[in-house]
Amino acid sequence: MNAIPPSATILNLLREKSMMSRAHTLLAALGMAGILVTGPVHAQSPMPARDFEAEITKSLAAAKSAAGFEFLGTLVRTCLVPQSLGENTSDVPAPYVTDPSRIPPRASWYTEPAKVFDNLYFVGGKIHSAWALTTRDGIILFDTIYPYNSEELILGGMKKLGLDPRNIKYLMISHAHGDHIGGAEMLQSRYGKPAGGNLRVVMTDPDWTLVEKYPNRYKTMAPRRDITATDGMKITLGEATVTITHTPGHTPGTMSYIFQVQDQGRPLNVAYSGGTAFNFNNRTPDPGIRNFQIYIDSQRKFAANAAAVNASVLLSNHSEFDIADSKNKMLPGRGSGPHPYELGAPAVQRYFTVMQGCARAAQLRLEQKQAQAAKL
Ligand SMILES: [Zn+2]
Repeated sequence: MNAIPPSATILNLLREKSMMSRAHTLLAALGMAGILVTGPVHAQSPMPARDFEAEITKSLAAAKSAAGFEFLGTLVRTCLVPQSLGENTSDVPAPYVTDPSRIPPRASWYTEPAKVFDNLYFVGGKIHSAWALTTRDGIILFDTIYPYNSEELILGGMKKLGLDPRNIKYLMISHAHGDHIGGAEMLQSRYGKPAGGNLRVVMTDPDWTLVEKYPNRYKTMAPRRDITATDGMKITLGEATVTITHTPGHTPGTMSYIFQVQDQGRPLNVAYSGGTAFNFNNRTPDPGIRNFQIYIDSQRKFAANAAAVNASVLLSNHSEFDIADSKNKMLPGRGSGPHPYELGAPAVQRYFTVMQGCARAAQLRLEQKQAQAAKL
């Protein structure tokens, strides 16, 4: 049985950097200090060193088994490829805005539009997506791709599918990155309030603030502030209701949606994930660990909202995550077979398991780094 150390010994223990990490030493010392107050004396065994590698492996394994065939792209992007340390957030225009020769070749992004459900149309590109939800009272458009291809893909695509862009009543921007907000200024200036039209732009306050704070970064993309979305807000048009979940992480204002589509008259609930990659500041020391926690908490919250309505379709604004471009090409040959987007509610939940497992593994790597730095 250990003798109760005098408080001077506790201080010495705190100063030592020998066998245990500072944190463990502190905890052990505080534990012993507690004994001084509470009386009984018990043996204090040192806390075992944390096995970060085992925890990381466990998180990766959970994500890998959840990915199945449906979410390999999500797994590759968030678990397997090295993460950047954060996006470039300086207030300079995108290269393709100032130099037309930097616009990627059309063949790299053009794809045909598609009618995906009775009331949902794909009007995006090969990599980045935009979706039009039709109602008896007009259209809700989700995301707007880049400034250089939104006119051809969204407006051209809608016309090919027999949809009139003048009927767009709501334009919902999942988050203020150039690959989703790129066509918003053009659409608002043609069909929104500035042009005497009906189109309203919906975005959360943190992302409206980004747009206002960095005028050069959003050059040719920036809509004027219109509707400010909040967590739980419902946008209703005709028979459709889109419920917003604020899912900060990818950007501070990222929002995700729940809404209903019909497949040959059969209603299906959709979970639309608004932001996926870990391109926020993910350095250590913080804000990296904290940002991953914000991201993980958002995924958990949106997964619960999706589960509450048995969402059986998972949509994204990148084909990488929902395989939209390939699935759209399967639709004409579907016949009476299953809808390629209808995964079932358990599979939709697996998507969130992938996101959370990969984010936790990345967060653990930062915690490991932080623990190693504390030992030095
Ligand atoms: Zn983004």
